[in-house]
Amino acid sequence: MNYIILDLEWNNAYCKKKKGFINEIIEVGAVKLDENLNIVDTFSMFIKAQLGKKLHSRVKELTNITNDDISSGTPFSQTMALFRKWSAGNDTVILTWGDTDIRVLIENFRYFNGISFIPFLKNYVNLQKYAQAFMNISKADQIGLSAAAEKLGIDVENYSLHRALDDSLLTADLFKKIYNEHMLSSYMLVCDTAFYSKITFKPKVITDINSPLIDKSKMRCLCDVCGNQCERISEWRVINQSFRAVFICRKCKRKIRFTIRFKEYYDRIDIKSSSVPFIEKKEISVVAVESSTERTNTTEETK
Ligand SMILES: [Zn+2]
Repeated sequence: MNYIILDLEWNNAYCKKKKGFINEIIEVGAVKLDENLNIVDTFSMFIKAQLGKKLHSRVKELTNITNDDISSGTPFSQTMALFRKWSAGNDTVILTWGDTDIRVLIENFRYFNGISFIPFLKNYVNLQKYAQAFMNISKADQIGLSAAAEKLGIDVENYSLHRALDDSLLTADLFKKIYNEHMLSSYMLVCDTAFYSKITFKPKVITDINSPLIDKSKMRCLCDVCGNQCERISEWRVINQSFRAVFICRKCKRKIRFTIRFKEYYDRIDIKSSSVPFIEKKEISVVAVESSTERTNTTEETK
């Protein structure tokens, strides 16, 4: 197995044709490792900007890339053709730190080449995901590349961070420290249709109470004192992308304000709920504000 660690820099640019912003890739850097993890080659190119001719000051500061660099670069399609040649080979897996680079790459291929896949991507590993598992870091605390490298005792001062080639060299250094062939194989994804559906899926909150994706059985509120099932005494309302209603525990005579949110991911629905005591007096004014919010929402929906 050969490994290619890829890193991209991009500039958020306005696209008239799309009437929206696109993360235009401006630099590609990559490191090729053989099966013994020796660096055998590197790749580094500027991409000639076609949408955002001027870099955002934040990008300039972060990367030290200049407007001259991107105006003298090679267009996206040509750069990618060269990268495809450079990365070709059987048994090659491409790794990136986090999957954002892959999503941006798909976006750029879609815009500049009119295709929704990455021609050179056959096998892929999200190294950040693998590293977090390897280092026992909870999925909830996403760790950045330099923080992870520091944790592993790598001197990040030796690298010019936020430049494509240096970031991939640093990632390669990190990769060597956490390499475990067996464990890595379980993080390797074959880049088929399902891979693209999953990686391009945009999570969304469900605000239609009649959506079949909503598990109505989860919209029950249990009394936090006696554990009894409470009875709903108000209509469900959509507030801050959540459903909210007032419940009552007949046994304790307690009123509870129950809030639940359903968020759709590619392969699951995330449910978050909370309940707080419903305070009548205070709630009256709150309800008034909320119902006007709700009316606004309803108007928007019917537009
Ligand atoms: Zn109760």
